[in-house]
Amino acid sequence: MTATPGPHPRGARNPGSQGALRHLNQERLVEFLLANGPSTQAELARGTGLSTATVSNIVRDMAGKGVVSTSPVTSSGRRALLVQLADTGDVAVGIDFGRRHVRIVLATLGYEVTAERQLALEPGYDVMTAVRETAGLLDAMLAEGGHDRESVLSVGVGIPGPIDRRTGTVLQGAILPEWVGITRRELEQAFRFPVVVGNDANLGALGEVTWGANRGVRNLIFVKIGTGIGAGLILNGQPYYGYLGITGELGHTPVAEHGVICRCGNRGCLETVASTSVMIELLGRGSSSPVTTADVLRRGLERDPAVIRVVSDAGTAIGRAIGNVANVINPELVLVGGPLVGLGDTLLDPIRLGIQHNAIPVIAGTTRVSVSSLGDRAESLGAAALVIQGALAGED
Ligand SMILES: [Zn+2]
Repeated sequence: MTATPGPHPRGARNPGSQGALRHLNQERLVEFLLANGPSTQAELARGTGLSTATVSNIVRDMAGKGVVSTSPVTSSGRRALLVQLADTGDVAVGIDFGRRHVRIVLATLGYEVTAERQLALEPGYDVMTAVRETAGLLDAMLAEGGHDRESVLSVGVGIPGPIDRRTGTVLQGAILPEWVGITRRELEQAFRFPVVVGNDANLGALGEVTWGANRGVRNLIFVKIGTGIGAGLILNGQPYYGYLGITGELGHTPVAEHGVICRCGNRGCLETVASTSVMIELLGRGSSSPVTTADVLRRGLERDPAVIRVVSDAGTAIGRAIGNVANVINPELVLVGGPLVGLGDTLLDPIRLGIQHNAIPVIAGTTRVSVSSLGDRAESLGAAALVIQGALAGED
């Protein structure tokens, strides 16, 4: 990354010099583009606090030097200029491990996906075997793209479980128990690259605000409804990690005082009444053959009354839990991800109702609820964004 100014002690420059000021402003634009992806000049001005005239001058200058490229777009019905960091040859790798798949994306610093692959995994797979297989696939993708190993900035890995950010270790409570205890160091040994790890829901949230149709949303809850129910939070434009990195454990919000014991050890957690496994179990009681998540989706689209009822009860419970959080953080948008998003409003309307039950009217009335714009790509793209955002920090 030769084009990006490195971190110098700012006091070392003459603060009055125009050149130094211009340099600092250019640095701010580059930082903003790394953090947020391609942005219009208006977004750059809003995001950095610089005037539109200053932004337009610096962008022209940077485009002349080949640091950024620009392209005309339409933004809110107006013509605008989209600014994007030029391809430096650096590669950000984003990887998402799910229950049955792993997805790999390669991306440039300008948030362009240059390669994408998915590999099916056996349920209950051996983690380190799958990681080594993935490392082999990554090596093949890099070779196909003509990238040498030095061009890889780092590898972002999304894992379906809580991660202690102090050590990069997967903690108890992971939906895939096989992942518990796996450390960042083990992943680095397998990939032979620096690795950053993230919880899948956190990365999904980051993916949505950096790559998706919801790019630039500054306060967001991304809720993934699957075998577990996890949430990723974006607060004031930044992923929120809390003290240890364990946030958004929405599935462990108690909702039934006398409910069943949850895998976390508490009683009546949201996950024990509203996960896809619970829906499948409830629907399976009246059925001679096992019900799958795909059946829930198909029958829901056919308006099967039992499915509608189960989804409605689960959605309302999830909405109530979201409503509690919404009262505290006042999100602009709630995005729902997971295998049932194809149900659309059949799933979203009960969630909206649950939010209305628990959030104060002005919050319930202004919080939009929608489905993920990136589908099953959100987590891997978020993992790549995590790498791109770390590009400046890792440069010195
Ligand atoms: Zn629990």
